[in-house]
Amino acid sequence: MEHYSVAVIAGDGIGPEVMAEGLKALQAVERVHNWIRFDIRCLDWNCGYYARHGRMMPDNGLEILRDFDAILLGAIGAPDVPDHISVWELILPIRRRFHQYVNLRPIKLLKGLESPLRHKGQAELDFVVVRENTEGEYSNMGGRLHAGTPYELAIQNNVFTRFGVERVIRYAFSLAQSLGRKRVTAATKSNGINHSMPFWDEVFRDVSRSHPEIRTDLFHIDALAAYFVSRPEIFDVVVASNLFGDILTDLGAAVVGGLGLAPSGNINPEREYPSMFEPIHGSAPDIAGKGIANPIATIWSVSMMMDHLGHREMGQLLLDGIEEVLVEGVVRTPDIGGRATTSEMGDAIVNSIMRKA
Ligand code: NAD
Ligand code: MN
Repeated sequence: MEHYSVAVIAGDGIGPEVMAEGLKALQAVERVHNWIRFDIRCLDWNCGYYARHGRMMPDNGLEILRDFDAILLGAIGAPDVPDHISVWELILPIRRRFHQYVNLRPIKLLKGLESPLRHKGQAELDFVVVRENTEGEYSNMGGRLHAGTPYELAIQNNVFTRFGVERVIRYAFSLAQSLGRKRVTAATKSNGINHSMPFWDEVFRDVSRSHPEIRTDLFHIDALAAYFVSRPEIFDVVVASNLFGDILTDLGAAVVGGLGLAPSGNINPEREYPSMFEPIHGSAPDIAGKGIANPIATIWSVSMMMDHLGHREMGQLLLDGIEEVLVEGVVRTPDIGGRATTSEMGDAIVNSIMRKA
């Protein structure tokens, strides 16, 4: 028997709704492969926990997480807790403490879905964004002065270290290599942001010299965003700073069917610490409690977790299960044109996984 311990932070809003379906998919994997077991521990760290305790997780929260093989996160955020608290006191500490410096975000049009981009299909929409996940624009350094006066000002510093930039760019190149893909594209803005971005470009060029077989492009973030829509077929692996990658991947999600479908992995490539898998969407207060959130982003994130744990065939089984339901086209949540509930969608995917096994 192979055991994996998984910490589950379902979170707020639609987080628990989609996570319930992610866990069903995990149980389906256990039923198919009776030699694998997931020991699940659910942690109630969310904005409700904050209301009760004045913090997003216990003081030893990171120590608790340290011992798990992986972490699954639903979504965090509630209208009554400022977003910078929920993000800075829970998600960012996990990403940083566990050196999850790669945020891996596939942009892939699944079978059975149509892109809002006319003339673009599965062949054109299939690439991966590698977002730097521990530094850059999300720096926590800066401050505000002179509140309430006409001289009020706010400063936020961007922090780019050679260590941090180099390791994520290296990861992007090795990912391209291991996927058998030919191009790595970097997001830059060295015309306007005149210290950090030229530095980013320089490191990108340095690293690219050890991969002469891979074609490289450096595009300014504004033009790159436009290419996501007009020429998505030119991308294999895109590497971007924390903020640029965040924005690009919501756009990427939109061109392949929406936020309800987009998964991610916060990866510690060295495997010294647990990695964390989560849909890229938030807690969606506008639809929370209605039972209509799309669970695919979460189930696909579980599939990425299987890949990361070294069971690619199980990751593929989950993804095939999702695609089969989309191709049948009968059970769909409202965001992709249907009337199904979150749990009906999850059940349909579980059934298709069981049929395939
Ligand atoms: P959001 O991703 O929650 O929602 C954006 C839009 O997408 C909404 O219209 C929502 O209904 C829709 N949507 C999102 N997920 C969906 C799904 N699974 N199925 C169908 N539709 C879906 O972004 P937001 O509204 O900017 O943020 C809401 C809250 O979530 C905020 O508190 C924010 O800070 C937080 N947030 C958390 C994370 C995270 O936990 N990693 C990420 C982004 C935002
Ligand atoms: Mn985001």
